[in-house]
Amino acid sequence: MKKIAILGSTGSIGTQTLEIIRSNGDLKVVALAAGSNVEQMEKQIREFSPRIAAMWSERACEDLRARVKDTGVKIVCGMEGLLEIAVMDEAEVLVTAIVGMIGIRPTIAAIESGKTIALANKETLVTAGHIIMPLAEKKGVSILPVDSEHSAIYQSMNGENTRRAEKIFLTASGGPFRGKTAEELENIRVEDALKHPNWAMGKKITIDSATMVNKGLEVMEAKWLFGMDLDRIEVVVHPQSIIHSMVEYADGAVIAQMGMPDMKLPIAYALFYPDRRPLEGRRVDFFQLGTLTFERPDLETFKGLKLAFEAARQGGSVPAVYNAANEKAVSLFLERKIGFMQIPELIEASMRQHRKVDAPKVEEILQAEQETYEFIERVIN
Ligand code: NDP
Repeated sequence: MKKIAILGSTGSIGTQTLEIIRSNGDLKVVALAAGSNVEQMEKQIREFSPRIAAMWSERACEDLRARVKDTGVKIVCGMEGLLEIAVMDEAEVLVTAIVGMIGIRPTIAAIESGKTIALANKETLVTAGHIIMPLAEKKGVSILPVDSEHSAIYQSMNGENTRRAEKIFLTASGGPFRGKTAEELENIRVEDALKHPNWAMGKKITIDSATMVNKGLEVMEAKWLFGMDLDRIEVVVHPQSIIHSMVEYADGAVIAQMGMPDMKLPIAYALFYPDRRPLEGRRVDFFQLGTLTFERPDLETFKGLKLAFEAARQGGSVPAVYNAANEKAVSLFLERKIGFMQIPELIEASMRQHRKVDAPKVEEILQAEQETYEFIERVIN
């Protein structure tokens, strides 16, 4: 029986992880954590009987405690609660499926206590990869990617001499606005940006896909996960989302992982690695597909992607600023307080005013986050 703790159990990745656990009797949920969705958390507790459950907000925590008093589940709150789950003895695998930099401290704590990490929360690696990757190596802990592109790269490296890997082709669907000009994007509404052509995901990552900031975060995630230089990571727009990413080797061979777009595949791959479990769902029909196409990304229109390469090249605290500015700008866009094209503008302005800190510690990363939020508040007011 493999024991799993999930941070972000009520979200898109969290609920799909629970679907996989539901259909595999040798996985057991030992802990669940969410932000404020008490109703769904109550249902999950009654179905999966974890030992501990956490809610971020104090109010949600009290509400949940009252609702599940009869179950004997221990309810914990806030960052302390997330940290308690991250280090609990029973858990073997921690699925990090919360959104944003809030995941940094629990991920580090879980690695310190020797847990395998199934990592969806890319913002954590983007901002603290220089702390997380060496620590995981020191502790002998595996970080198994849940992001479909990184899972594809992982699968394309399985059994290979990875020192012979020369290049990563990170595929991108291009999002709902592929082919549009900057002028056409000026008046994009929240509803338009939330319509992703191939994937159903949480709101923040869906907006990140529309701006292509998501691909920028993934470039940085790939750099850390696979120790690959930036100039050997190439973004390839592939609108069909069948090839989930590729690795080119020293002999010119390119190995790709393909499949229908379904996050359950990479989630299950991380949970059962190195095994592959049967998974129901649509299969690729090459004859119906006919063609797979590839394009260069438009870095002028989707400036967020270009800025990600710049942030990654500068390194230090700059990726944290890039990420924090994006998190803040996306929430302002979702609240309809700024326009779509202001998202990359605010990222760029935040990066320009920041004074870089080299190899920032966790406190310095969180300080850069806070200062970026305050800068953006000042700019938009
Ligand atoms: P969702 O918005 O769907 O879910 C987020 C989850 O995190 C919810 O359970 C939410 O709880 C919880 N949460 C939010 N804030 C806190 C907090 N402060 N403390 C505890 N829990 C919190 O996000 P996704 O599932 O889409 O994405 C999760 C992560 O996975 C992101 O980093 C994303 O980039 C990455 N990812 C997602 C993919 C996808 O297909 N969705 C694909 C690849 C990567 P509540 O419901 O109560 O708000």
